[in-house]
Amino acid sequence: MTKVTHYINGRNTPASERSQAIFNPATGEETGRVSLASVSETEQAIAAAKAAYPAWSEMSALKRSRILFNFRALLETHMDELAELITLEHGKVLEDAKGEITRGLEVVEFATGIPHLLKGEISEQIALGIDAWSLNQSLGVVAGISPFNFPVMVPMWMFPIAIACGNTFIMKPSEKDPSSTLRIAELLTEAGLPDGVFNVVNGDKEAVDTLLTHQDVEAVSFVGSTPVAEYIYKTASEHGKRVQALGGAKNHMVVMPDADLDQVVSSLMGAAYGSAGERCMAISVAVAVGEIGDTLIEHLKPKVENLRVGNGLLPGMEMGPLVTRDHLDKVKSYVDKGEEEGAKLIVDGRSVSAKNNGFFLGGCLFDNVTPEMTIYRDEIFGPVLSVVRVKDYSAAVQLINEHKYGNGTAIFTQNGDAARQFCHEIQVGMVGVNVPIPVPMAFHSFGGWKRSLFGPLHVHGPDGVRFYTRRKAITARWPTGLRCDPDFVMPTSS
Ligand code: NAD
Repeated sequence: MTKVTHYINGRNTPASERSQAIFNPATGEETGRVSLASVSETEQAIAAAKAAYPAWSEMSALKRSRILFNFRALLETHMDELAELITLEHGKVLEDAKGEITRGLEVVEFATGIPHLLKGEISEQIALGIDAWSLNQSLGVVAGISPFNFPVMVPMWMFPIAIACGNTFIMKPSEKDPSSTLRIAELLTEAGLPDGVFNVVNGDKEAVDTLLTHQDVEAVSFVGSTPVAEYIYKTASEHGKRVQALGGAKNHMVVMPDADLDQVVSSLMGAAYGSAGERCMAISVAVAVGEIGDTLIEHLKPKVENLRVGNGLLPGMEMGPLVTRDHLDKVKSYVDKGEEEGAKLIVDGRSVSAKNNGFFLGGCLFDNVTPEMTIYRDEIFGPVLSVVRVKDYSAAVQLINEHKYGNGTAIFTQNGDAARQFCHEIQVGMVGVNVPIPVPMAFHSFGGWKRSLFGPLHVHGPDGVRFYTRRKAITARWPTGLRCDPDFVMPTSS
């Protein structure tokens, strides 16, 4: 049984009694316990981050960047070990876990360019003998709160850029799969990161609320479900903090009548069922435009029925279990609800659950789903794909624009005009053209619209640097002896 505690001031830290079970979702067995931090334990991490801030923020950006280079190398060396930790607690297949680490590593690579990214702007001679420039400076102690579905990648959307900018960091990972994030903390220390710059506090609402309200925390990055994202945004803002809070999703893929069907089907299989649908960019709705619906269902059905579902550590598996028994029950209850509300269940994955001790559900496929149905409105976060049929392109756009979520979407077509118009008018933050999961690369920023994001700035890329820095504008004149009288009117450049 593993015991997962906290990582404060460069070392694993003993924790108080409150704890919660960690499960291997592929076997259903309890494999360890994670500590749930008290207020005072969380305050200890804040104090460590505060103490580390002056020296860290004064270190040159180049030196900070060199530590991130070391960390990047360690991530590569420890890729297999980290991937296994993810699979053992999350359930996703091993290759997918490695893919997640790679996407996080790319943010580290972006952050190593921090000397360049922090550069400000300068205007010489804004008036006679006067120059103006702007600086980007760090904020202080910042916190990140992450969801279960990407225990390595989502923290790495946040802390590499935050610490590269000169901030110190407190990470509160998901209590469902915390081990890989804790291992990351150890690797950062091994890379040469000074103690206290990166701390991990495991826990639940008690730890989160302490971070949201503590006067020494300057900013909070959150990724998780929409109700919690909204709560985090409101609470932390009320306490004077800068916040970015990314929430849930319901991502549609529009299938135009001229789309390449083989490409559509293989893209949908990966995007809907990869990681058992537990991705915020998973496609959960296929919008069949015109007459393509019957053919689409015909091609999808055998593929969904034959998905290789099993322990993610075994080679050749395409889909692992869901993260917890509670989540499995919740997703199954959505499948029940879909049937009750009149959607046509083409493939029923519930039979897979009965045969296993782990939290498995086979792929589920619904046809004739309509916008009023619960399975259309809610984020299910499981291997359940709904096909909605619409008469034309405009109806597809209207459907997507009226949905409360706006994280990702895609259009599959061979028509450049339709694709271009779609990119222009769709009310969604990340758009794919013949690309099913359009997750922006680390050097661009990631974020949704509508109820998928609270706050003005997206994560990583240029928005990440903006979020973790504040601007200072400086106007300077050196004495020349020419203008020593006081000015009583608003200065202008003339
Ligand atoms: P969650 O909202 O339940 O938990 C996220 C984090 O918030 C965890 O660290 C958890 O401990 C904490 N938390 C939970 N309830 C809380 C409360 N009442 N008060 C304070 N803190 C609380 O999310 P999850 O189930 O771990 O993750 C799945 C969700 O995350 C999905 O909705 C998914 O779409 C979303 N997600 C979004 C993105 C994105 O980029 N938009 C990315 C990944 C996941």
